[in-house]
Amino acid sequence: MLPISLEFFPPKTPEGADKLRAVRQQLYALKPEFCSVTYGAGGSTHAGTFTTVSEILAEGVDAASHFSCIGATRARVRDQLAQLQAMGVKRLVALRGDLPSGYGIGGEFQYASELVEFIRAETGRAFRIEVACYPETHPQAKSPQADLQAFVAKVRAGADAAITQYFYNADSYFRFVDEARKLGADVPVVPGIMPITNSSQLLRFSDACGAEVPRWVRLRLQAFGDDAASIKAFGHEVVASLCERLVRGGAPALHFYTMNQAQATSALCGALK
Ligand code: FAD
Repeated sequence: MLPISLEFFPPKTPEGADKLRAVRQQLYALKPEFCSVTYGAGGSTHAGTFTTVSEILAEGVDAASHFSCIGATRARVRDQLAQLQAMGVKRLVALRGDLPSGYGIGGEFQYASELVEFIRAETGRAFRIEVACYPETHPQAKSPQADLQAFVAKVRAGADAAITQYFYNADSYFRFVDEARKLGADVPVVPGIMPITNSSQLLRFSDACGAEVPRWVRLRLQAFGDDAASIKAFGHEVVASLCERLVRGGAPALHFYTMNQAQATSALCGALK
């Protein structure tokens, strides 16, 4: 069976935490290899992230903590790595993160590759490290080639695997993996899958993170207006056929951005059987 992993964000309220517990129980039926929990840049969600990671481990499922370094000092990172080790965490998704505008600079890390290098130097092989990569190019990269080199640098620094930013164009993924391999970065590159359930939210997110929603998909989503059922049905078809193509083309696993919802991810995995 193809391995899958599931991503959650830390809930902000006790009600959100209860809802997420119920969502996780539904999604555990998919037998994820691990679940990951995002980490607000600047450490803003650190307590919520670590609590959610602890809950997942206590539920008997492997958990990865996302960990972003922008704005962080080495001392703070060292301290939080020790906390994670004490919690029994064995997987990290190591990221640079994005500071909210207006947040002061003062951190001791500039790029995720420096974080990966630091984690390896401090903790050896204590953590399996995943990093982010961008088949359609990170929005701040100087060029696609420079971004590819930045990914290769993260692998050379000690990353074990990568999870991609979401995309809806399978060719961008296959090309990225081929090019990375030619440069010697042959770790597993797992496609990040964003279910389509809400048109305005998807279009807003995609503009911010540089993921491209193809024109034909965007136009159809806009034409559905407030018809949520049609958006979900169409979104399911588009993303299910993307997943099928990725799996047929050799993707080693799929990572689902669940948005703390169970239905869309369950339906996509059901369609993949
Ligand atoms: P980097 O790999 O450091 O790259 C950032 C930019 O710098 C790129 O444009 C790259 O080309 C460039 N660059 C890298 N190295 C160099 C160099 N040596 N010289 C010049 N340029 C360089 N954000 C969060 O805040 N919390 C999360 O939990 C989170 N989870 C994520 C999970 C996944 C799977 C993905 C794909 C993204 C996630 N993000 C998260 C978003 C991520 O933090 C942003 O995309 C951020 O802008 C870049 O992070 P990175 O780790 O890819 O950075």
